[in-house]
Amino acid sequence: MEAVCKDLSKIGKIYPNALLADYTTFKSGGPADVLFAPYDYEKAAETVKYCQKEGIPLTVIGAGSNLVVGDRGIRGIVMRISSDVMPKPVIEKRNGMIFSEAAVMKDDFIKFAVANSFSGIEFMAGIPGSVGGGIVMNAGTFMGTFIDWLKEITYIDKKGVFHTVKSESLMAHYRGIDIDSCAVIVSGVFEFPEGDPSMTQKKIDDIISDRKAKHPWTFPSAGSVFKNPEGSFAWKLVNDSGLKGYKIGGAQVSELHTNFIVNAGKATSSDIRSLVSHVQKTVLGKFGIELHTEIKMIGEF
Ligand SMILES: Cc1cc2nc3c(=O)[nH]c(=O)nc-3n(C[C@H](O)[C@H](O)[C@H](O)COP(=O)(O)OP(=O)(O)OC[C@H]3O[C@@H](n4cnc5c(N)ncnc54)[C@H](O)[C@@H]3O)c2cc1C
Repeated sequence: MEAVCKDLSKIGKIYPNALLADYTTFKSGGPADVLFAPYDYEKAAETVKYCQKEGIPLTVIGAGSNLVVGDRGIRGIVMRISSDVMPKPVIEKRNGMIFSEAAVMKDDFIKFAVANSFSGIEFMAGIPGSVGGGIVMNAGTFMGTFIDWLKEITYIDKKGVFHTVKSESLMAHYRGIDIDSCAVIVSGVFEFPEGDPSMTQKKIDDIISDRKAKHPWTFPSAGSVFKNPEGSFAWKLVNDSGLKGYKIGGAQVSELHTNFIVNAGKATSSDIRSLVSHVQKTVLGKFGIELHTEIKMIGEF
C-alpha cells in the first residue's frame, strides 16, 4: 500500500495508520488500509478511476454517523468526503434553491438555510453527518426526509464519470436511495419554501431540545439502530422484549431510548453486532417481527 499512498498523496490527504474508530460516531472499528480524503471532487473521480484500474476495493464514507466498522477494519481505500480537507465546501443560493456540496455538514446546511429565509429544513435538525451521507441514507424523521426537498443530485459513477440527475429518477425509500452506478455523491440541489427565519429557528431549537431529552446524547452511537416495521415502532418492540439496558461487552441497549445502542465504554464493533443480532432474535421470537437495521455494518469483523 506504500505505492498507493504515494500516488494518492498528490491528490488528497492520507491519514496514516488511521483507526476508523476515530472517524465514526460509535467510536469503534479497526484500521483502513488507506484512509484518504480528496482535495476536491475531480480528485475524488480520479480516485475512483485509480481504484478501478488497479483493482483496489474502494469504500466511500462521510462523517461516519451511521456506520459500524468491523474491528478488523476495511481493506483497500476508504475515501472520506469531508469538510475538514476540501477547502470550504460550497453551499449557495442558485435560482431560488440551495446548492450544496456533499461535504457540507448538516448543521452548516441548516444555518445557511435559516440565514437565507428558507423553511422546511426543520426535519434535518439534530441529524448529524454530511449532506452526502444524508442523501445516500435519505435521512430524516417523521417530519420528512431528504428526498422530499431534493430536486437533483450530481454523482460520480463507478467509472469516475460525473452525472447530474433529477430527483424523480431516484428510487428513494425508507433510509436509502438506489443508484446502482453511484460511487460518490458530489452535490444536491434542494428546493425549500420561504419562511420567517425566527420562526424556523424556534422550531429547530424546540426539536433539538426534544431530541436532547429523549436521545442518549452523552454516549457514542449511530442514532436509531432499527427501521420501524410497518405499523409498529422498533423502540417499543425492543422495550417490550425486556431489553432496555441489555449489555454485551461495552455495547448497551440505551436506557433512555431503546432503539439506540450505545457504546457504554470500550465497546468493540463485534459487541455492537452481537447485540444487534441478539435484539433481532429476541424480537422475532417474542413478536414474530423481523427488525431490519438502519445502521450500516461495513468492513471485516
Ligand atoms: C445521535 C445520532 C442521531 C441520529 N439521528 C438520525 C435521524 O434522526 N434520522 C436519520 O435518518 N439518521 C439519523 N442518524 C444517522 C446518521 O446521522 C445519518 O444517516 C446521516 O445522514 C449519515 O451521514 P454521514 O455523513 O455520517 O454518513 P456516513 O455514516 O459516513 O455514511 C452513511 C452511508 O452513506 C454513504 N456515504 C456517505 N457520504 C457519501 C458520499 N459523499 N458519496 C457516496 N456515499 C456516501 C456511506 O458509504 C454509507 O453507506 C443519527 C446518528 C446519530 C449519531
